[in-house]
Amino acid sequence: MSAMRQNVPTIEPQRLGAPLVLQNVHKRFVQGGRVSHVLRGADLQVGASEIVALVGESGSGKSTLARTIMRLYTPDEGSLMFDGRDVTTARGRDLREYRQRVQMVFQDPFASLNPTHSVRTILKRSLPPRLQSLRDKERDDLFRDALEKVGLTPPDNFLQQFPHELSGGQRQRVALARSLAGRPDLVLADEPVSMLDVSLRLGVLNLMLSLNEQYGIGYLYITHDLASARYVGARIAVMYAGDIVEEGPADTIVEEAKHPYTQLLIQAAPDPDRRGVDDLDSAVFTGEPPNLSMEIQGCPFQFRCPHVMDKCRKEVPMKRPVGDGQLVKCHLYA
Ligand code: SF4
Repeated sequence: MSAMRQNVPTIEPQRLGAPLVLQNVHKRFVQGGRVSHVLRGADLQVGASEIVALVGESGSGKSTLARTIMRLYTPDEGSLMFDGRDVTTARGRDLREYRQRVQMVFQDPFASLNPTHSVRTILKRSLPPRLQSLRDKERDDLFRDALEKVGLTPPDNFLQQFPHELSGGQRQRVALARSLAGRPDLVLADEPVSMLDVSLRLGVLNLMLSLNEQYGIGYLYITHDLASARYVGARIAVMYAGDIVEEGPADTIVEEAKHPYTQLLIQAAPDPDRRGVDDLDSAVFTGEPPNLSMEIQGCPFQFRCPHVMDKCRKEVPMKRPVGDGQLVKCHLYA
């Protein structure tokens, strides 16, 4: 290795990661005088360098929760703490610093990459301030390193390309390289493989696992696919009607679910070898989720729950521990 090469910054294995804590987060939207209650008191924790899979049906509020964590929305109530600092209403420099440490990978990699920017420019814009002053050659070496690590080789072929010249899988790898070059502590990955060919999905999920293992990058992996949630997540959080109704170690949630909603999800896919109903949107339930405009008194699952009691219609259940690291919001466990 030449002396010059020794001075080039590379992305060395290191422990990143910082904890994220959401408490009682509410988000409402008002349109045409109509109020939509999209988040209804969501509590969630993602530990340093942890992968948490957030599962739920379409419309359960998963993406709004991610955008609220990203502070694209400000919570109407509740708090958002990151690495011990309250970022619920952070602005200006504090917000910019927070967004360097928490980044997002979107469902549609084409929409999340600026089509007028080359891969080099996309990566350049992701760099934290302390790396912005690198000379061009040092910066390109850093980018080559990031592209190699996400499997885009030879990297020089990709640096000057534009998003429309790449396949969907390559674009999602650029999005992950961007998150790697920016050295975030936490990545919010919102359905990152759902628009990719099935043949490419496992590669991207394995890449996330490898980046977590090597660099300590934490992930909030948002999906409606229970099988991939179990595959990727150390923990699973189950979202229903704008709230996290159950969370815990991934295997425990799948094998010993306590909340009636989670149990119905699992029953719909009892055999891990049997494909078919592991997609939450195709799971069979009676009734519909509550309308977003409804003010709900009591448990949000009361309209579909086979165990509903009087108390469920009057009181919102508290989150309670029911096992080793397992938490559930249900009056059955009061
Ligand atoms: Fe069902 Fe009541 Fe538990 Fe809600 S609180 S999930 S309605 S038993």
